[in-house]
Amino acid sequence: MSSAEFKLIERYFARPVHAQQGVVLGIGDDAALLNVPAGMELAVSVDTLLAGVHFPENTQAADIGHKALAVNLSDMAAMGAEPRWATLALTLPKIDTAWLEGFSAGFFALAERYKVTLIGGDTTRGPLSITVQMHGLVPVGLALRRASARPGDLIYVTGELGDAGLALRALQGTLDLPAEHKAQLLERLNRPEPRIAAGLALRGIASAAIDISDGLAADLGHILSASKVGATLHLERLPLSADVSSFVIKGGDWNLPLSAGDDYELCFTVPARNEIKLRAVLDRLMCTCTPIGMIEEAPGLRCELADGKSFTPDSAGYDHFA
Ligand code: ADP
Ligand code: MG
Repeated sequence: MSSAEFKLIERYFARPVHAQQGVVLGIGDDAALLNVPAGMELAVSVDTLLAGVHFPENTQAADIGHKALAVNLSDMAAMGAEPRWATLALTLPKIDTAWLEGFSAGFFALAERYKVTLIGGDTTRGPLSITVQMHGLVPVGLALRRASARPGDLIYVTGELGDAGLALRALQGTLDLPAEHKAQLLERLNRPEPRIAAGLALRGIASAAIDISDGLAADLGHILSASKVGATLHLERLPLSADVSSFVIKGGDWNLPLSAGDDYELCFTVPARNEIKLRAVLDRLMCTCTPIGMIEEAPGLRCELADGKSFTPDSAGYDHFA
C-alpha cells in the first residue's frame, strides 16, 4: 500500500471501534478478526454499485455512500439478521477529496444509526465502483429464508412500492412532477431506508422473506420458485404513494409498482397461525405492512385487478447481461 492510499484510508475510513462491537481487530492488518457469539450464525452478503447502473452518474457522493451501505443492510433485513460489520472495496477514478468526504459522511451516518463497524476493505483505481460486504448475526435456525413459504400463507409488503422507479423516470425527463414531490421521491431513490427493524421483528413469525430490490414481481417470484409454490396478488391492495397511485390510474401501468425495482422494501409470507403474533409486533416494524395476496399450491404468479381481470407483469427483473 502506498502512503497516499494509507492516508486516504486513515482520513476517510478508519474510525474508532467500540469494544462491545465484537471486533477483535479492525482496519490495518491483512484481515479483520471478529467474534461470533455462541448460538449465532454469521449472515454474509455482498453488493456492488456501479455508476450509471445502480445510481445515475450525477448522484451526490453522500447519497452514494448511504445507498452502498443501505442495499447491503436491506439484505440483512431480508434474512432477519442484525447488521454488525462491513467491508468496503472502493474503485475510484481519482482521489477527489470533496467526493470522499461526501461519500464517507453518507456511509458513516447510516452505519452509526445501525451500529455497523467498518472493519476493512480495498482501494483501487479505475471506473467508479463500490462494493460493500455486510456481516450480520442471527440466532441459529432463525434466519428468514426464501424456500419456506407454504400454501395459505399471507403475502405482505413493507412501505410503499414504485417511488424509486417514479423518481428515476422524473430524472430521465420522461415524467413531470411538482418540485416538492420530486424531492421526496428522489430521497426514496437515493436514500433507501433498510427495513432492519421489520426483519428482526419477523424472526419466528414470517415463513419466508426477500428484499425487493429488483421489483416485487421478480423478487416474490424467487420466493415462489425456491418454495415450489405459486401466488395470487390483488393489485388494488398494493401500498402506493399518492404520486405512484395517480401515475398508475392515469396510465394504467402496473409495471411501475410491480417491476421498476430499487424499492428496498421487504416482501414476506406469514402462516395463518402466526397472524396474531404479527399483529403484536406491527408497531415495532417502524413502517407500514400491507397484506397483498396469498401463497397457493399452483405454481406461478397471478396478478388480479379490482375488476377481476388479470395483469401479466414484466417479472424478469434487471438483467446485467441482457
Ligand atoms: P493489503 O495489501 O494487505 O490488501 P491494503 O493496502 O489493501 O492491504 O489495506 C490495508 C488496510 O486498510 C487493510 O486492513 C484493509 O482492510 C484496509 N482498507 C483498505 N481500503 C479500505 C477501505 N476503502 N475502507 C476500509 N478499509 C480499507
Ligand atoms: Mg488490499
